[in-house]
Amino acid sequence: MRILLVEDDALLGDALQAGLKQAGHAVDWTRDGVSAETALATEEYAAVVLDLGLPRKDGLDVLRNLRARKRALPVLILTARDTVEDRIRGLDAGADDYLVKPFDLGELNARLRALLRRAGGRPAPVLAASGITLDPASRIVEYRGKPVELSSKEYALLQALMQQPGRALSRAQLEQHLYAWGDEIGSNTVEVYIHHLRRKLDAEAIRTLRGIGYVIARDSVT
Ligand code: CA
Repeated sequence: MRILLVEDDALLGDALQAGLKQAGHAVDWTRDGVSAETALATEEYAAVVLDLGLPRKDGLDVLRNLRARKRALPVLILTARDTVEDRIRGLDAGADDYLVKPFDLGELNARLRALLRRAGGRPAPVLAASGITLDPASRIVEYRGKPVELSSKEYALLQALMQQPGRALSRAQLEQHLYAWGDEIGSNTVEVYIHHLRRKLDAEAIRTLRGIGYVIARDSVT
């Protein structure tokens, strides 16, 4: 998933970016409120991790502006402001969840998973299609009941396809899930990861729709 991280503290931002990447996300990191708004206006994100005390524009104002445009994007607030009034203000401004600093990285990732799950409207967290199951909580992928080892990029790509089984995703859409700003994107990397996935799963698991993109077949309902 592609996540926007907004945090002005260099050390904390660095740790957060590393932790989120390790959890398999592509992370864009902005360090002030104005850059965050620019990023939100121009890029597609699955969720935002937002600090409140930010230079140039307060996190609460960023959140209010986002919600004023009726964006249903999941937002998790991270802040040192820990009074009850602050929490109420944050939630009223449209935050979906709230973590007070200092916090545990494992808890942040778990809460983010919960937000992404709710945003996807899925009561069951495990994705299943075409004989493949993918559990976002444990990151365990199985094909026909057997565990499959995937790299983090292969996992991210498979997850993107499995979230919308039966729907073709173009190479550009898949790259959005795989890469953050500044990441080097090779000209045929999506093809390479698809090739790896087919080798590890099954040659038929992911279909190529020529000129359109890639698709995982929806399980037929019996
Ligand atoms: Ca701050």
